[in-house]
Amino acid sequence: MSNKANVELLTERDLIRAVPERWKSVYSSTHAGRLIHPGKLDLLPALEALDLETCSAGDVAAIIGNDSWTELKCEECGRDVKSVVIVGGALGSTSIYLCAACAREAAAVFSMEASAP
Ligand SMILES: [Zn+2]
Repeated sequence: MSNKANVELLTERDLIRAVPERWKSVYSSTHAGRLIHPGKLDLLPALEALDLETCSAGDVAAIIGNDSWTELKCEECGRDVKSVVIVGGALGSTSIYLCAACAREAAAVFSMEASAP
């Protein structure tokens, strides 16, 4: 077993980059030969036309009609943020998304312990 913690950075840009492929995969599902969500794939060309390295989350939302595909929320403080660390998920544990402020606060708890008399 590795000693490296299961901590991964996830950014809004990562989510933006993944939108066209995720959209295609989610909305290509069929049941009895028919699309489960007819009409959704019509948006794919517009998503694929985006420059995924420079477009904003707002550009994505303008196409799909909401920000659910690019929003990133800290699961501790509830703030909308541009990046989180995903902690956990190994060994079957539940993972949690933490913003930088909450992750720093968590790390600070250990410093307090170390400097306690
Ligand atoms: Zn937070």
